[in-house]
Amino acid sequence: MTSNNGHTNGHAVRKINFGAGPAQLPLEVLESVQAEFLDFNGTGTNIMELSHRSTAFAKVIEDAEQDIRDILSIPDSYAVLFFQGGATGQFSAVPLHFLNLKPSQTADYLVTGYWSEKAAKEAEKFGKVNWVIPKGSKYQDVPDEDTWKLTEDPSYFYYCSNETIHGIELIDVPAIVPKHVPIICDMSSNFLTRPFDVTKYAVVFASAQKNFGISGLTLVILRKDLIEKTCNKSIPTILDYKIHIDNGSMYNTPPTFSIYITNKMFNWIKQQGGLKAMNELSHKKSSRIYEIIDQSNGFYINSINKKYRSRTNIPFRIVTNGLPNEKLETLFLKQASQLNMIELKGHRAVGGIRVSLYNGITLEQTNILIDFMRTFQTNNN
Ligand SMILES: *Cc1c(COP(=O)(O)O)cnc(C)c1O
Repeated sequence: MTSNNGHTNGHAVRKINFGAGPAQLPLEVLESVQAEFLDFNGTGTNIMELSHRSTAFAKVIEDAEQDIRDILSIPDSYAVLFFQGGATGQFSAVPLHFLNLKPSQTADYLVTGYWSEKAAKEAEKFGKVNWVIPKGSKYQDVPDEDTWKLTEDPSYFYYCSNETIHGIELIDVPAIVPKHVPIICDMSSNFLTRPFDVTKYAVVFASAQKNFGISGLTLVILRKDLIEKTCNKSIPTILDYKIHIDNGSMYNTPPTFSIYITNKMFNWIKQQGGLKAMNELSHKKSSRIYEIIDQSNGFYINSINKKYRSRTNIPFRIVTNGLPNEKLETLFLKQASQLNMIELKGHRAVGGIRVSLYNGITLEQTNILIDFMRTFQTNNN
């Protein structure tokens, strides 16, 4: 096997992409795609040239569904859907289906950062949204659960398990939410980086381009009985869960190539040892980066409450004389890029540096970044 940082097949140097998405794919996956590029499984075509009704593609999507059911132990009472429209599409699909599920006709949204805020604002187009905590500006912490304002019997409770821009991760369903409330979660940026219990959720969705594929595909895992209860008859067909369930995610042309890549990613995750292995990898990579930050005597600062620090998106500032030093941050990005480490610039809403450690990033690559962070501090402190 070739190394993922260095020369591959005698061609270009592969960069290490620490970006927030679309993310780097494992080299094994890319090489397998390359090997099949002109002839997928003896079909004499690329999978992207094949009909979605072909037996060759049917096998790909069926395999992908079975693999994710195995990886997450998804029971039959849940549907697995392959959607287009990104996680952003689900910001509309969710309230369109479920906002009026209960007489309260209100959904509770826990807004902990950029993405859950977007979801809440989208839902407000369709009905009543209760913001569980006051709108934040910096999003560096989550107020204690006993201060949350929950609706008596909400249609659902919505949250984002990992805020990709702010770097806030909620490891489990908040304990304060009563068991009977349907829980809906955007897991786009930490999906398949740790085990979780699907049966705690009514709907889980995640776009593929962070941890399990490329853009164009959003996976939706959905408790089927909820669909029978939705009474909204004016859902656009393209967002209608029931239509997608009844047609095996093939009411219209699905994103075939994205599904093919995701099938390979699920396979790769299984080969690595499933979620147990992904969990360990994610823990190792992120704890090493946080260690460097916390042992830097304030040179590197991550301002998120430690309880909620994200393992997949780590924003930090470079600080001198008590203030973020943008000049040094620019130098950091420049020197990192000279060492083939790219996409480390923080989101404009937060500034500074952001390290994204999705499933495709290896421990070895993380160590290269850590060595660089050490050296950079020594040279510039
Ligand atoms: C990337 C991301 C989104 C947006 O996904 P799209 O596929 O671009 O629509 C939504 N939520 C979270 C948490 C994300 O990380």
